[in-house]
Amino acid sequence: MSFSFVGNARIIETVNRFISAGHIPHAIIIEGDEGTGRKTLANYIAKAAVCLSGNSVCDNCKCCRLVDTNNHPDIIYIAPEERKKNISVAQIRTLRSDAYIKPHMQGKKVFIINKAETLNEMAQNALLKTLEEPPANVLFILITESSSAFLDTIISRCVCLSLLAPSRQESIDYIKAETGIEQSLCENAVDSARNNIGKALVLLGRNSAPTNALAEEFAAQLFDNAPTIELLKSVHSLEKDRIAAGEFVSQLKAIVADKIRLEQNNAIVLPRLIKYYDTLSEMQPHLITNINLSLFFTSLISKLK
Ligand SMILES: [Zn+2]
Repeated sequence: MSFSFVGNARIIETVNRFISAGHIPHAIIIEGDEGTGRKTLANYIAKAAVCLSGNSVCDNCKCCRLVDTNNHPDIIYIAPEERKKNISVAQIRTLRSDAYIKPHMQGKKVFIINKAETLNEMAQNALLKTLEEPPANVLFILITESSSAFLDTIISRCVCLSLLAPSRQESIDYIKAETGIEQSLCENAVDSARNNIGKALVLLGRNSAPTNALAEEFAAQLFDNAPTIELLKSVHSLEKDRIAAGEFVSQLKAIVADKIRLEQNNAIVLPRLIKYYDTLSEMQPHLITNINLSLFFTSLISKLK
């Protein structure tokens, strides 16, 4: 079984124990900051629940491979819909009826609920009914920053796994081994991200950032040819937060990349979009040096314009 996970050894031990015993709890909360490996752990548990080898993760069977490519039909991801803050009651109702339909394949059906803290009380109560009388062969994994947002009745029906950020050294070693990026850059990124591996990878441009409303707004202004002063104003709030700045640039790059795909045949705008993309790629590494952020954004925007 290959499962690289940094730190949190006791949690991983617990998880491996219930997998090998064939007793994966039917409802699990994974709590921790974004970037501590919550989704990696959720996917690992989900894989164990569908793996055809039984009581392990073989990484080789048809099901494991489908999980790796995000194509397993019995692993269902739920999160707030686009432009919505909360997971809606309607989404939970759909989940409930879906939970009673038999899995497509041999293993279990797994619902991974991301940003589960955005379930309001009504949605939590709707979910609770399913947790109280769980259909056979169904597993629920709730991913959240903190389980304090949940009703006690939800918490009491779940096994809670709390993830902590690994140590500085563990984080640096992991990133270096995974990316091959040189030591000093790894150290800078880990320090800027306060040992949070996911966030350090965003700063290094190796991980996609979470959806960022500011980046979307800025991209719209940029595509619209807004004046420099307007663009500078938009990023003002980022000048004190290196992690947020890193997420912003990473997300902006992803938005520009999407736009490039969309405008593939538009010879008029394409060169401009490619220039944006190249500029962002060129500027991104500066974020993990000690560059002054206000200087960084002034320089970025002048190059974009
Ligand atoms: Zn397998």
